[in-house]
Amino acid sequence: MEFFYRCSECDRQFAITPDLMLCPDCSQRHEPDQPLRGVLEVGLRGELRGPWPPPGAEAPSLPYAELLPVEPRYFPVVPVGNTPLWEPARLRQHLGRPGIYLKDDTANPTGSLKDRASLLVAAFARKHEISDVVVASTGNAASSMAGIGAAAGLSVRIFVPKSVPRAKLVQSLQYGAEVTVVDGTYDDACRDSLEYTALHGGLSRNTGFNPLTIEGKKTVALEVFAQLGRMPDAVFVPTGDGVILGGVFKGFEDLIRLGLADTMPTIYAVQAEGSNAICRALARGEFDDPVPGNTIADSISVGVPANGRSAVKKLARHGGHCVEVSDAEILDAQQMLSSQSGLFAEPAAASSVAGLLRVSDTLPRDAVTVLLITGTGLKDIEAATDRVGIPG
Ligand SMILES: *Cc1c(COP(=O)(O)O)cnc(C)c1O
Repeated sequence: MEFFYRCSECDRQFAITPDLMLCPDCSQRHEPDQPLRGVLEVGLRGELRGPWPPPGAEAPSLPYAELLPVEPRYFPVVPVGNTPLWEPARLRQHLGRPGIYLKDDTANPTGSLKDRASLLVAAFARKHEISDVVVASTGNAASSMAGIGAAAGLSVRIFVPKSVPRAKLVQSLQYGAEVTVVDGTYDDACRDSLEYTALHGGLSRNTGFNPLTIEGKKTVALEVFAQLGRMPDAVFVPTGDGVILGGVFKGFEDLIRLGLADTMPTIYAVQAEGSNAICRALARGEFDDPVPGNTIADSISVGVPANGRSAVKKLARHGGHCVEVSDAEILDAQQMLSSQSGLFAEPAAASSVAGLLRVSDTLPRDAVTVLLITGTGLKDIEAATDRVGIPG
């Protein structure tokens, strides 16, 4: 298989190198406070060597390596991915939906789906003998890069906003990352991290900006297909910057391109009402002035979504939908998921469940429906205390 970068706007192709992050032409059209221009996507050319998924794909190695642009020998040994896809019997009964599956990405080493992107970025850094990785994050991308970086022997510098949940901060420090707490928003942390790499070098793992973040996250879609033995009918994806969303589309697109599947599932991007830039842009056909993210679901709280343009384009092209849910709906869904399935998700992750409830009338009851559960509830127990109260 041969891999290359392709601009998501002008289709120009490039070789994959560590210093190329955005299309040099389209990125010129970037405007302040707007999503990135010229986001690059990994293209692949060639034939599969054998059956896919390969026999023994459940083994904790790298079953999807053939579809990833970095050779297996560069991957650090740390069990990212291969997360459970399971059938929550009581939740199914509670909602009268026998086709629900939970894709439990809280089972990743640092507790969130972000590990999929961090793993590929870490492998790429090792391949190119880069020892420093830099990332701005609302928390999970930072703690993920810190943890996977620790396994890979990389030095990791993170920029997080002051509002970062304490658990995510402590987790990053435990892994040994250099931490800068920025007196501002996530968007400010992104700016500071880019200033840092421009000055000091190092590989940026900023989500959407580094094309390998989208590519790494596609493995969740490959796994869902392999675990179900078919395409699902619907997938609910918690959405902030739109990088998980882009990765989910990319994984399914790769399967279709390789002739392994033929129909794209209906993808639902779920956003918080207080952080809905992608929903607004899908409805209007363009991005408007940014509104700072304002939601209890910190991991999807974004004013200017880095991968917004490509995310909206893919939603439009594939007939996907955007669903907005309130913080109250998210907290109710979080508690319902915990108490009906035993899976404790952080608010952003529980938004998949809230999204399903919102569109319940329009989705057939027996649809094979995958709820992406992107991060563990233990990362933000403050938010989760609201609905339960502490006795005594
Ligand atoms: C990062 C994250 C998201 C949102 O992903 P985007 O790529 O920013 O859209 C959702 N849930 C959790 C737990 C996350 O960490």
